[in-house]
Amino acid sequence: MSIPVQRIREICGDGNVITDPLELRTYECDGLTSHRSVPALVVLPGTASETAAVVRTCHDAGIPFVARGSGTGLSGGALPHESGVLIVMSRMRRILEIDPVSRRAVVEPGVTNLSVSKAVERYGLFYAPDPSSQVVCSVGGNVAENSGGAHCLKHGFTVHHVTGLEIVTPSGELTWLGDGTGIPSGYDLTGAFTGSEGTLGIVTKIVVKLTVSPEAVHTLLAAYATTAEGGRAVSDIIGAGILPAAIEMMDALAIEAAEAAVQCGYPEGAGAVLIVELDGPSAEVETELAMVRDICQRAGATEIRAADDPAQRAKIWAGRKSAFAAVGRISPRFIVQDGVVPRTSLPSVLARIAELSNQTGIRVANVFHAGDGNLHPLVLYHGDEDVAAAEEVSGAILDACLEQGGSITGEHGVGVDKSRYMPKMFDADDLDTMQLVRCAFDPASLCNPGKVFPTPRLCGEVPGTHRGPRPLPAGTELFLWRRNVRWYHPSPPLQAQQRPRNCCAPRLPLA
Ligand SMILES: Cc1cc2nc3c(=O)[nH]c(=O)nc-3n(C[C@H](O)[C@H](O)[C@H](O)COP(=O)(O)OP(=O)(O)OC[C@H]3O[C@@H](n4cnc5c(N)ncnc54)[C@H](O)[C@@H]3O)c2cc1C
Repeated sequence: MSIPVQRIREICGDGNVITDPLELRTYECDGLTSHRSVPALVVLPGTASETAAVVRTCHDAGIPFVARGSGTGLSGGALPHESGVLIVMSRMRRILEIDPVSRRAVVEPGVTNLSVSKAVERYGLFYAPDPSSQVVCSVGGNVAENSGGAHCLKHGFTVHHVTGLEIVTPSGELTWLGDGTGIPSGYDLTGAFTGSEGTLGIVTKIVVKLTVSPEAVHTLLAAYATTAEGGRAVSDIIGAGILPAAIEMMDALAIEAAEAAVQCGYPEGAGAVLIVELDGPSAEVETELAMVRDICQRAGATEIRAADDPAQRAKIWAGRKSAFAAVGRISPRFIVQDGVVPRTSLPSVLARIAELSNQTGIRVANVFHAGDGNLHPLVLYHGDEDVAAAEEVSGAILDACLEQGGSITGEHGVGVDKSRYMPKMFDADDLDTMQLVRCAFDPASLCNPGKVFPTPRLCGEVPGTHRGPRPLPAGTELFLWRRNVRWYHPSPPLQAQQRPRNCCAPRLPLA
């Protein structure tokens, strides 16, 4: 199998195709730098029809392909396939339409998140999903990851703000999912596509919902001796029926890093800081601010500051927004974890993280979206010698989240990094059902293969060039799905090489 380079050049133009080995290395990883793989070819299409033609070419030649936005993903979702084509969407960065009356905008996938809000500011509107990477990450990448951000506690995730998608299917057809109204008739395919991590096709246009800018915004910072006290304030705020736009927390190590990086002036000696942001009508915000202040005080706050002035609010946020990068000042390498727990379990999971850190000597800085129980422990390590220990701590943190009924990912996706943890959270039937969805879009398994799902399950996913037989458990009953054809094979099962190539084999019970 060889990549039809000439055909791809004809589609996108010579200048938009990269084959030089040195230049290809620019794309060898996303924000998760511990996984690297140089693609065979990089192409930067300029339009939806060019994207469709490139995908069709890959599909017809049986070449795997991976979409990439800005490459800020933290789970290796945009990790290239070494024998495949990396399709980079960053040239497609036009805001095509703004409709302030219907509060909708149509954007290309390479548009950066923050630029949508900037473009609609003059209408008193904003685009609510706000990952901390919003200055650079693309809306296409946000759709693929169903990205959140500090304010998704109140305003929701990307899926709540996308009402229609133009996509290129894995066989290269250009089509629309959703009609832009956000009210699906029939299956909600826009919802199914959002968060599918680039495995169901490539987004080429996005209809986004715009939100009216709030009349008032107040940001409150409360300092605590411990994260447990801060955690109590979080539960009490939500328990009082208040829904802040954001509730964020940082522990002592994260504060130390942020202070060194951006001099955010957080209270000295604090073991934890809580940032609570309230937005909405002025009267409501004023009332809730008084209640939140009181709750924070009763939970043991050593200092409370509140700001409604944009510059002062920005100063409070500066430490939190810079936290990931700032940690780089105290440790050259770190893993950003992304587990979720019920809010009430925050204290016990944080205690478990501290215990793991003490036992192993691996430092962990905690930054988290406390309001929705989304932890981002930053597991610090120095070099290759302690990477295994750091990964072990990182995995044990996910185990602790799962033990509390939580999840292995809140907003960064599964990608290549967490696929091995999927069987801890989902049983075989769950995974097979998910495979069915994937196979309905991509029966050939060429679109971002090797991501989300654990090691090849039967013939559903065939990474690299491996085509040999794979032993199957004796007595396995196989359903082989290929487009809409279904075969039933009683045991003994077929050997892999006898099966139709690229089929998916969910292990479902007989109907
Ligand atoms: C400092 C920092 C802070 C961050 N903070 C947050 C945060 O607060 N909240 C949060 O949710 N995330 C956060 N992230 C993670 C990351 O920014 C998001 O996942 C973001 O949505 C990725 O966008 P991207 O354009 O960089 O996508 P990429 O990294 O390029 O790709 C991500 C995934 O999307 C797929 N993809 C990209 N474009 C398309 C397309 N057009 N069609 C189909 N699939 C596509 C890729 O195949 C891949 O699977 C942070 C990352 C960093 C580095």
